[in-house]
Amino acid sequence: MHDDDSQQDEWSLETLAIRAGHHRTFEQEHAEPIFPTSSFVYESAAEAARKFGGQEPGNVYSRFTNPTVHTFERRLAALEGGERCVATSSGMSAILSTALALLSSGDEIVASRSLFGSTVSLFDKYLGKFGITTRYVELSNIAAWEEAIGPSTKLLFAETPSNPLSEVVDISALAELAKRSGAWLAIDNCFLTPALQQPIALGADLVIHSATKYLDGQGRAVGGAVVGKHDVLEEVFGVVRTCGPCLSPFNAWIFTKGLETLSLRMHAHCENALTLARWLDQHPAVNKVYYSGLEAHPQHALAKRQQKGFGAVLGFEVKRGQAGAWQVIDATRMLSITGNLGDVKTTITHPATTTHGRLSEAQKEAASITPGLVRVAVGLESQGDIQRDLARGLDALAAG
Ligand SMILES: *Cc1c(COP(=O)(O)O)cnc(C)c1O
Repeated sequence: MHDDDSQQDEWSLETLAIRAGHHRTFEQEHAEPIFPTSSFVYESAAEAARKFGGQEPGNVYSRFTNPTVHTFERRLAALEGGERCVATSSGMSAILSTALALLSSGDEIVASRSLFGSTVSLFDKYLGKFGITTRYVELSNIAAWEEAIGPSTKLLFAETPSNPLSEVVDISALAELAKRSGAWLAIDNCFLTPALQQPIALGADLVIHSATKYLDGQGRAVGGAVVGKHDVLEEVFGVVRTCGPCLSPFNAWIFTKGLETLSLRMHAHCENALTLARWLDQHPAVNKVYYSGLEAHPQHALAKRQQKGFGAVLGFEVKRGQAGAWQVIDATRMLSITGNLGDVKTTITHPATTTHGRLSEAQKEAASITPGLVRVAVGLESQGDIQRDLARGLDALAAG
């Protein structure tokens, strides 16, 4: 009998997503099993001593390792082209564990300004308490990154493409900067996933995921992961194992199942999003569409070179500011009005009063989070149905 991934070195991403990381048990199960157990037992006191002491590989306790979680970790590591993956209880605990592993008091982070809101709170409010400071720069401006890096900079952190404006940064250029300054480069790859972008191949040291989004893809579980080289991941593993933000076996099993269809789903998400973006772009009620798949987008060429698709999160600004935006959102009957993304179900939200509501008016203006901006995370319903649901409000807005 062979393990499902014995041929792993020869496989393409689509195959790895389906077969990597599954070690069959003696039951010879075809699909990946779940091991919902907190602990493990041994044949003898001597075996227990060897396993606890680390002289012999094997499971001890599910806060440290669990076979179901391990399958998900091995599969995601293979997809991202990383040596090792550590799974966590959420995307936020993946970022926290990375920071605790890499940074000490007095260190500095340089990060893109357009980060996920909780990431900004984590950096400023919580890491700030321990003397770790963060400087924010415009995502796509490499010169601004270079200028912000100082002798205490230990971590460069970016989300690309950004949410909701779909800005893109040149990952290779950032990796070059990181290397020159002796800092780590971590990319939050939540919006594209390894199916569309592989930051490690472009020189990033670490990839961070909220598995809650596209890795699951169906909005059913919260989890996260960090991928990178063995030595640095050993530090991240130390944090997770000691501090406890470990992934549950059940959620790991859901994410492993999600990875099997990841590539198919991501390409279908992109296709729906591009068609919708083109339609929105010519709609009379829409002032501007933010989507790197459109030729007019300032980083279209870079996105095309760096990514295998443009992702499925797009922003558009409608006429008449907040009143117009709310009118379009409230006229939908199918789209889910919620801040979540990375789901087969299309979601719609008003960033200025929800996901970006904590920003001051000046910060919103600097980040182009205008009152008329609407964000759609395009799902996998029929493109025609998504478009019709948006047309109701947009047509009324254009007519009014
Ligand atoms: C959702 C999200 C996170 C946080 O992940 P959780 O699983 O909600 O903790 C981090 N980064 C990005 C880009 C996200 O969209």
